[in-house]
Amino acid sequence: LKKKAKLWEKEANDVKLAAVLGAGIMGGGVAYQSALKGTPILMKDINQDGIALGLKEAKKLLTKRIDKGKMKPDQMADVLNSITPTLNYGDFKNVDLVVEAVVENPKVKDAVLRETEEMVREDTVLTSNTSTISINTLARNLKRPENFCGMHFFNPVHMMPLVEVIRGEKTSDKAVATTVAYAKAMGKTPIVVNDCPGFLVNRVLFPYFGGFAGLVRDGADFQKVDKVMEKFGWPMGPAYLLDVVGMDTARHANEVMAEGFPDRMKDENKSAIDVMFENNRYGQKNDKGFYKYE
Ligand code: NAD
Repeated sequence: LKKKAKLWEKEANDVKLAAVLGAGIMGGGVAYQSALKGTPILMKDINQDGIALGLKEAKKLLTKRIDKGKMKPDQMADVLNSITPTLNYGDFKNVDLVVEAVVENPKVKDAVLRETEEMVREDTVLTSNTSTISINTLARNLKRPENFCGMHFFNPVHMMPLVEVIRGEKTSDKAVATTVAYAKAMGKTPIVVNDCPGFLVNRVLFPYFGGFAGLVRDGADFQKVDKVMEKFGWPMGPAYLLDVVGMDTARHANEVMAEGFPDRMKDENKSAIDVMFENNRYGQKNDKGFYKYE
């Protein structure tokens, strides 16, 4: 494996300029992390408000770093100047790797990826940060599927070390190697996985959430379960983690997992995630989930 990793490293293209499509929770995080670690990045969205939010979040995170003494105040401008916000594909011919992080809608992603493919060079690597859509399905309408793979970051991007690099059936070693190298340059720990519902992490996480939902159904107090799992050694319990992920996102991913693994994931009962969702308790995104956020 080590030998193979070395071969991959040799295959990697240098990512001197990256781009992210979508300046939302994930896109904004990717732009911040890339700029912070020294790879300039274009951040494209379809509306100015999205871009403003992405930049505001980056400024907030940088201010926190300065307050904690992890960065000198005069470095802030350099990092912010490495993020180029844009509403069009202006400089995309110079981009070495693109991270698509637009809304989780297969039709939108399909259209955005095909459009982007026309705007970049032939050797540019295209990646998608999708959590639930098959990489092989997204690759189907691309002219250069060999240059395409998944690059799945976790939320919040600046804190979560792991990145899943998802190899599609047609993905080349070069595309995998370039994505792995870029993830490392961002200070992340990449793992290469095959394309399947949930990839690797969500195949572990969602059965765990299912176990939690079963306990709550059986009468367990969610706060107590959280405390127990913290004592077990997890940084946070399942109820709090679901609040971070968001009930809408978790519900959608759960449906994808149940469809992908009907024998293992199917649960005929209404889960705690469904109940929270139906009561408009989405988690931290609307300040109320299992817990309340002021
Ligand atoms: P979000 O709603 O916060 O942001 C999406 C952004 O995409 C918005 O700013 C929107 O204006 C923009 N957008 C929509 N269409 C566009 C287009 N055609 N071109 C450019 N920008 C466009 O969403 P998010 O939570 O950041 O999720 C983005 C992706 O990341 C999804 O695929 C999601 O599944 C995945 N993801 C999310 C999380 C999470 O916890 N939020 C974790 C891992 C992966």
